[in-house]
Amino acid sequence: MDLLVDVLDPPLFDPFYSRIKDLVTDYVCLVDSPEGIWEISDREIPYAAALRHGICDIIESTSFWDRQSIVRQYLSAMAITMVLSTLFFFICGSICYYLYFDPAFKSHPKFLKNQVRQEIRESMLSILFVSIFTAPIFVAQFRGYSKLYASPEAGPGDWYEIVQFPLFVIFSDTGMYWLHRMFHLPLLFNTMHKGHHRYIIPTPFSAYAFHPVEAYIMSLPAHAYCFALPMSKFAYIVTFVVTNIWSFLLHDNSDAFHTVHHKNVKFNFGQFLHSWDRLGGTYQDPVRFFSPRRSGQSIKQPE
Ligand SMILES: [Zn+2]
Ligand SMILES: [Zn+2]
Repeated sequence: MDLLVDVLDPPLFDPFYSRIKDLVTDYVCLVDSPEGIWEISDREIPYAAALRHGICDIIESTSFWDRQSIVRQYLSAMAITMVLSTLFFFICGSICYYLYFDPAFKSHPKFLKNQVRQEIRESMLSILFVSIFTAPIFVAQFRGYSKLYASPEAGPGDWYEIVQFPLFVIFSDTGMYWLHRMFHLPLLFNTMHKGHHRYIIPTPFSAYAFHPVEAYIMSLPAHAYCFALPMSKFAYIVTFVVTNIWSFLLHDNSDAFHTVHHKNVKFNFGQFLHSWDRLGGTYQDPVRFFSPRRSGQSIKQPE
């Protein structure tokens, strides 16, 4: 994210924040300007002038407009996250939907009326919420609180450039599995996770269709790795993109691992691996699960 902000600062954010500063200064500080909101008040209320001067001093002296300002970093990170997540959602969701989702499932009795529209609406709400609360994580990375490093020389060694990928998968999958199981506890399931399970025949557009708070909590393991263990910025970008694409592929309703979970909520909580499901006794082999459908019987319904 810091790389993106660095790239976008000169052409986009510098002129944007400078324009905002000019507008605020013109509006609040130029007494003689007809737009000056304090002009009339100055004559009628003596304290208004002092207040205006105070505000103008803050506008002039605040470090908010600098690239290193924490507030500016937060707002820039939030805007980038929101825009890129929305673009990613529509591009990746559309590609997976048209390539992998069998349109015949739209006539299945369990496919909801206006389902895709519902999935998109819920996903948009999640993206908005998750962007607001993920931006502080990016700011913490900007300010050096993570173990992200820019080049292999700054990492633990050449071997780690490969090893960090399987480590990330194990780390992230462990977090996702247990958080997912937590969201199946009755209270959390009924207040949050139940919404995602409305989609018994999910489409790729349901990849982000979670309760916003749940979507944020479920995204944390992927961000937590770089705070717990060293991670190259390159690996962070790759794993971030792959994790998100994987979420779309999980929801194409093919006869695969996560589709089982949407048909029967007792099985297959993992994201990348099956290990925790096997250890936790929640694994269900998709081939076995879907074999009645292949032999012409009806699809299994959730219990
Ligand atoms: Zn799902
Ligand atoms: Zn679930």
